[in-house]
Amino acid sequence: MIPSNSLPWQAKTWQTQLSGAVTQVQDLAQILGLSDNVEDWDADPTFPMRVPMPYISRMNHGDPRDPLLRQVMPQLAERIDAVGFESDPLLEASTAPIPGLLHKYQGRVLVIAAEHCAVNCRYCFRRDFSYAKHRHDTTFPMLDYVRDDASIREVILSGGDPLIMPDERLNKLVASIEAIPHVKRLRIHTRLPVVIPQRVCRPLIEILVNTRLSTTIVAHFNHANEIDKDVAIAFAALRQAGITLLNQSVLLAGVNDDDVALCDLSEALFEVGILPYYLHLPDRVRGTSHFHVDTDTATRLHTTIQSKLPGYLVPKLVREIPGRPAKELIATDSLPVISTRIDPFT
Ligand code: SF4
Repeated sequence: MIPSNSLPWQAKTWQTQLSGAVTQVQDLAQILGLSDNVEDWDADPTFPMRVPMPYISRMNHGDPRDPLLRQVMPQLAERIDAVGFESDPLLEASTAPIPGLLHKYQGRVLVIAAEHCAVNCRYCFRRDFSYAKHRHDTTFPMLDYVRDDASIREVILSGGDPLIMPDERLNKLVASIEAIPHVKRLRIHTRLPVVIPQRVCRPLIEILVNTRLSTTIVAHFNHANEIDKDVAIAFAALRQAGITLLNQSVLLAGVNDDDVALCDLSEALFEVGILPYYLHLPDRVRGTSHFHVDTDTATRLHTTIQSKLPGYLVPKLVREIPGRPAKELIATDSLPVISTRIDPFT
């Protein structure tokens, strides 16, 4: 166990990494020893490229099909106007009762805490989101909605990436939420410590430890190669601080759409103290059809990983359908019963 006070980096390190992110296709190609004119890359994308160096350092040099590179390199396929792929397939615009807040499910609300991310994932479901309509100052006016509804027990920080907020602003937001007596839980959905593990610094841990709210971080890892030594150190510090750690992945063609990759991811997550939680079918977002995995393929893959992993390492296969009261669990084939004996260790 690594004590949080022995994190090997300074708080300002993550901001340096953030501002030094690579934003040009040519630069990323050069760093990885690749030609910048690989035929399916797009040097002039409408959704800009952004990739921090700690994430690039985990990519395989010289491999244009690297699963991490595929998640961040703009592709010409993003220009395809595929039927059924839309700017707002989840109809999120209709779930905002007040700017800065979405209310989709009973008992919890989602706060649009930030409008940027450390990385621009090419499959992003909010690439066309109207962040400008959801801007707020540090009085966090959207929390009035939470104060007025005593059925809300959980506030989810999302974005953009909520951990891109400076610690001072994050601290104010968490303090404002915990001042609402009926809110019990805080959930933070983030990919920032995945791409810049140095984001897990002492000031952040202090904010999360000093709140009365029960805090969960849902990380967004999609591939086992995203987990290296620094990531392990960062998540060990969070675990030691008593934060519940879960992961949600997106099932992405060319990244993790095979059973070996998914099993390796679950194993690697558990090794660093994170439980696999959700495996999402990708949302049908405009410009992302090349990442799409159909339901039959997803179901087959999920059945296969169930046969290879203990149950607690198998994420729930889900998709989001607008208007439903919860994410839809996708039923997978029943596994064949090969013994009636109950093994207490499975
Ligand atoms: S971190 Fe999440 S919100 Fe940000 S670009 Fe990636 S998928 Fe989109």
